[in-house]
Amino acid sequence: RQMNNAGGMKALSFGQSKAKLNNETNKQITFADVAGNIEAKNELVDIVDFLKHPKKYFDVGARIPKGVLLTGHPGTGKTLLARAVAGEAGVPFFHLSGSEFVEMFVGVGASRVRDLFDQAKKASPAIIFIDEIDAVGRARGIGHGGGNDEREQTLNQILVEMDGFEPTEKIVIIAATNRADVLDPALTRPGRFDRTVFLDLPDRKDRRAILEIHAHEKPIDESVDLETIAVRTPGFSGADLQSLLNEAAITTAKNNQTTITQTVLLNAIEKVMVGTERASHMNTVDERKIIAYHEAGHALLASLLHHSDPVHKISIIARGNAGGYTLKLPLIEKKLNTRNYFLDELVMTLGGYVAEKLAFGDVTTGPSNDLQVATNLARTMVTKWGMSELLGPVAYAGNGRSMFGGSGVDSRDLSSETEKIIDSEIQSLMKHAETRATELLTTHKTVLDAISNALLDHETLEQAEYDTLLASHGITVKTKES
Ligand code: ADP
Ligand code: MG
Ligand code: ZN
Repeated sequence: RQMNNAGGMKALSFGQSKAKLNNETNKQITFADVAGNIEAKNELVDIVDFLKHPKKYFDVGARIPKGVLLTGHPGTGKTLLARAVAGEAGVPFFHLSGSEFVEMFVGVGASRVRDLFDQAKKASPAIIFIDEIDAVGRARGIGHGGGNDEREQTLNQILVEMDGFEPTEKIVIIAATNRADVLDPALTRPGRFDRTVFLDLPDRKDRRAILEIHAHEKPIDESVDLETIAVRTPGFSGADLQSLLNEAAITTAKNNQTTITQTVLLNAIEKVMVGTERASHMNTVDERKIIAYHEAGHALLASLLHHSDPVHKISIIARGNAGGYTLKLPLIEKKLNTRNYFLDELVMTLGGYVAEKLAFGDVTTGPSNDLQVATNLARTMVTKWGMSELLGPVAYAGNGRSMFGGSGVDSRDLSSETEKIIDSEIQSLMKHAETRATELLTTHKTVLDAISNALLDHETLEQAEYDTLLASHGITVKTKES
């Protein structure tokens, strides 16, 4: 009787083939259907080219990554982008979701994975897409009380399959997760999902683009101004924006109207806000302001300091656990860095902390990670690289320890006297860095304000926009190693 209930039947019917082959070519999704996410698309372009012209790559002995991990908040378009890769390359797309494995009989998940890879190999070149991989790929001991054999077996089978196939099989595996932090490290080892692509929540410009894509299929009234809608929807994901337009369409039909008006759209914003659980990635107005100053502090210092790498992009859009981020790119790849470089790096890292203090006279918990990074760097300078005047050219840190993780110091070897000096040297480096950061940001407070305001307005600043802003305040922009 057990076997006759629907669940049992479903599980049994399917050691083989439940992977959905998405080959309905009636609507091929391409990169044009995915707004924004330019960096993510750029990273995927070579995968597309490889799937289109594998021979070109084999002929020169190039090895393309087997696995790509898409990570980002729910609704940022991970599934959409994976489909777009298949669409661009014109190859079949095999789709499977990690969450489907969790409640199955032991062994079914593994056999399904095996079958999926077999099918894909027959159809190659092809894409295998494993959605919600965190459902099976969590590191042991995180979440899910107790062991779950089915999960582990499924995960192991995925790893076995990935290790087992040859590059010549022309298959690329794309996995998606919004919890990259909980994944089993075995998944991200070289030769598996060794390339990670971030999908960000859309900024104002991208939100507008997404609205335009989805408004395209709907009767939009002349009164509609999508820019205003974009301005009013910070923190919305692509999926939220799509459901916003859908809500508006439903209201329009219900009211027996034939076109979607601006009023209806504006009302739909609240509906979506209430209806979806977005609080986690939505910064409040106050938080946005704090984050804007924080990131502006990092960026401005990076631009002012002689040895820092130039700013590539600044954003107040949440990524992972960070409220915002500032990206820097080295002008030249360096193998050796100098003491002066690290001194500047300390100042830059404290930029968020100092900017918050300057702007609001108070500090938040936001910079806690910055402080940790800076302190670890200072400790390494003192204990490993002989960069402290007082302690001189002595390495206290053990060998083979990670450079920035942990203290790296083997306390058995140290006299308490030496430990005290190490601590005071670290403190002095940090204090000195804070003072320099404060001086620089105070002197350039108007620029700091201007960058923060620009961030509040645009949410992200690309290098060119940022450089223009600095130039308008008379700050010369780094172009080459000076
Ligand atoms: P995820 O897999 O990251 O949770 P999805 O790919 O399922 O997100 O996105 C859900 C829907 O939201 C998509 O089908 C699409 O309609 C819309 N969407 C999300 N991001 C974008 C984007 N960047 N451009 C256009 N539409 C988007
Ligand atoms: Mg998805
Ligand atoms: Zn910071």
